[in-house]
Amino acid sequence: MDCRHGRVLFRARSQDTKARYEFVVWDPMTGNERRVPLPDMSLICFTATVLCAAEGCDHHGCKGQGGPFRVAVISTTRTRVTKATAACLYSSESGLWSELTTVDNLDASGQNTIMTSIIVDNALYFNSIGNHIVKYQLATLDLSLFKKPIRCGGELITTEDGGLGFASLNYITLTLWSRETSPDGAMGWAQHRVIHLVKLLPHSALLTLSVPYIISAHVFMDGIQVIFLGAYFSVYMVELKSGRSRKVLEQLGKIMDIFPYASFCIPAMEAASTGQGQ
Ligand SMILES: [Zn+2]
Repeated sequence: MDCRHGRVLFRARSQDTKARYEFVVWDPMTGNERRVPLPDMSLICFTATVLCAAEGCDHHGCKGQGGPFRVAVISTTRTRVTKATAACLYSSESGLWSELTTVDNLDASGQNTIMTSIIVDNALYFNSIGNHIVKYQLATLDLSLFKKPIRCGGELITTEDGGLGFASLNYITLTLWSRETSPDGAMGWAQHRVIHLVKLLPHSALLTLSVPYIISAHVFMDGIQVIFLGAYFSVYMVELKSGRSRKVLEQLGKIMDIFPYASFCIPAMEAASTGQGQ
């Protein structure tokens, strides 16, 4: 379901006979895995994300093995009388889920409307199929919604200065937006850059029968922001700052999401720092 800070999050069949499913937080470098029970909330339409919770960690080498982590779950529910988004947060240190936080969401439907997430300034931002972005403040667990810069489509990104951004694609025109504070103190979107894909992708990727689409956007540990574009049966990774791109996958089906993974494991240095080994 997600991948961040050296960990991968799955939903899996539960080993507990009382529950059907549970989360598994897995560190691919060590094989270490932790099982997390599902929270007590409606999980018909939901997504979940994992993040490192080590105090002071710069996330350049998170200790997936045994390090503290959080799992955030966000779901949408729609009944005859309510349309709402709800969220709660799991702490590996306490082994408990937080109280549920809810907010009215007129975009809520019977579909899984909440999609990928991004962390900016200790808040999780979730993209959705609808017209809103959901903000989940990790310190206070406040939940709120605000509008995207355009209707539907697009992906959340981080701006070059680490703020919240948004990338939208209209055929071959990629537009980057940044969330900014206006002089009167109101938050809003500002158009930051417009890039034509002819400058990013080879001509063969932009044949007329192919409509490029954004698969996902990610920030690597060194702060490099990339987006993955699907175009003419291939997937291209585009580095937004430099404009460099390369084909990373050829495939016939439509890929809906990509979770790049990066981590480090240096056992000799680890042993030396803890006074073990040679
Ligand atoms: Zn970390």
